Amino acid sequence: MDGKIWNKIIWILKREEFLGNDKINFSKVRENLKRCSRIDITNSKKKDREDFKTMEDIRKAIINCKKCPLYLSRTNPVVGEGPLTPNILFIGEAPGADEDISGRPFVGRSGRKLREILNSIGITDDMFYITNILKCRPPNNRDPNSKEIDACVPYLDFQIKKLNPDVICTLGTFASQFILKTNERIGILRGKVHHKNNRTIIATYHPSFILRNQSMGSVLKNDLLLCLNEVKKL
Ligand code: SF4
Repeated sequence: MDGKIWNKIIWILKREEFLGNDKINFSKVRENLKRCSRIDITNSKKKDREDFKTMEDIRKAIINCKKCPLYLSRTNPVVGEGPLTPNILFIGEAPGADEDISGRPFVGRSGRKLREILNSIGITDDMFYITNILKCRPPNNRDPNSKEIDACVPYLDFQIKKLNPDVICTLGTFASQFILKTNERIGILRGKVHHKNNRTIIATYHPSFILRNQSMGSVLKNDLLLCLNEVKKL
């Protein structure tokens, strides 16, 4: 075993206050080690990853980013928002018009709908971080292209790694298919717990779809309750 892994084990033992305790809970240590070793789940290639150390590093990098042409048309990049140790990480596709103007994620009508449902089931603001795959708005809300995604996804990789959420919840078809690496329809992907690279992922509809299809509100609510159940298991 290399030195890094030993250091990780010792760090976990210290963190759990197991040192000096003769009843070490090895299954808990093993679970924590698994969580520490979670690897990136997006398409980001190693050579594209920059050496960010903190969330503040990444905020500064995104704010100054000119890695793809979207910087020319954006009003503000949208980094993401929430606590630094969230239970749930919500990932959408890209900022919309309201987000572009404000520089904040999910603040338009659909974002307000999502937050309303979250609050109604007890998922409070201090429990989740919310961001998108792309940090700048594509003009006229068109679909992101592969060059934009390749350029931007190292930021998301770092956010996932650093925030280390209990559960990732993908919002909408694009984000769900991208994170789960599948072409399966969102109707098939939603409503179940996926495990990928030691991460727990739940896919659901984008709240903008719910605004257009009010009768599906209870489906989104059920998927968010599933997220909450997964969080409570940990
Ligand atoms: S979309 Fe991403 S890669 Fe493109 S300019 Fe914005 S932050 Fe940079």
